[in-house]
Formats: sequence, C-alpha cells, structure tokens
Amino acid sequence: MPILSAQEALERLRQGNRRFALDKRSRDANLGHSQAPDTDQGQEPFAIILGCSDSRVPAEMVFDQGLGDLFVIRVAGNIVAPSQVGSVEFASARFGTRLVVVLGHTQCGAVLATLDELQQPTQSQSPNLRSIVDRIRPSVEELLKSELRHDLDSLVQRAIRANVSVSVNHLRHGSEILERLIQDEGLLVVGAEYSLETGEVEFFD
Ligand SMILES: [Zn+2]
Repeated sequence: MPILSAQEALERLRQGNRRFALDKRSRDANLGHSQAPDTDQGQEPFAIILGCSDSRVPAEMVFDQGLGDLFVIRVAGNIVAPSQVGSVEFASARFGTRLVVVLGHTQCGAVLATLDELQQPTQSQSPNLRSIVDRIRPSVEELLKSELRHDLDSLVQRAIRANVSVSVNHLRHGSEILERLIQDEGLLVVGAEYSLETGEVEFFD
C-alpha cells in the first residue's frame, strides 16, 4: 500500500475511532498472526502515535487498526524526551510515514501525579519517575497560578491538553530532521485527546 498523505492518514484514524466508539470494530483489526498480511516482509505504518502508557488507551484499539498499521510509542504522560524524538525521526525517515499524533487522554494519571507533586512535594520520589513529572510540570505549574486553581476538574482538563501541546511543539521544533520533513515533505504533527468517558478521540488544530 502506498504511504498515505497526512490528511488521508488523519481521515483513516478518524474513521477507525468512529468504529471503535460505536462498537463496530473491523475484522481486519482483529486478525491473528497467520491471518494477517505479510508482516515479516517489512512495515509501512501510515501513522505514528505517541501516546500514554495507560492500559485503557491502546492506540491500535481506539483507532481500530491492525498489525503493521501504526508505529506506536507509549510512555507515561505522553511526554517527549530524546528517545521519543528519535523514535519519531526513525519512523518518519525510514518508512515515509507522514502523520504524527500525540495522543493524551482524560484522567491521565501522570498529569494527576504531577499536580499532586506540585501541591505536596515529596522527597522520596525516584529520579526516574521525577524525570517524567519534570516534563509535565511546566504545563501544570502555569495553570496553578491562574484562577483555575479553584476548580480542580477544569484545571486537570486544561493541564492534560497543555501537556499534549508541549509534546507537539517539542516534536515540531526540537529536531532538525523533523523540521525539514515538516517543511519539505508534508509531515504533520497534531495533538489529540482520547475520552475515557465516550471512547472518542478529539483532534486539535
Ligand atoms: Zn495517561
């Protein structure tokens, strides 16, 4: 299958998520190993998804896609550190994939943990866990200074979206390779949020 343009890939994800949200998952997305297309002959993923590790948000399921369709990077809080940038560079340069989606989700535990940490700092946190919290911290910190601090639900909602935007901007501007692909090859990096309540993914502009 020829590599899809970013817009075509986006449309395919939208349609897949619609099927998932309506409980109409396709047979192709559920094939076993021997029924699946020749996955040992290489891969041509049509989209790269950087999502949270949360067990309730597996990218292949919520977009109703099968083996070989998505190049998925998952990390708590869908943060962007050097290894995530490298993974996106690898897939977009190697496979010609033209769409990157940073997929956050409602009730994200990593964002909630960051909020807790800012309100009640602990000394005992592991340095590894701290490295995740530190990347989410600026999004939450800024909001805690605003009127939103009186409205916890809205604060969390906004923090989750702000954290997605930080990751999107990091991918757009934190790599010469990706900047060039965006400028010359039609690579698109977009943010999105999965709703645990409805099963629907909302894409941001
Ligand atoms: Zn999460």
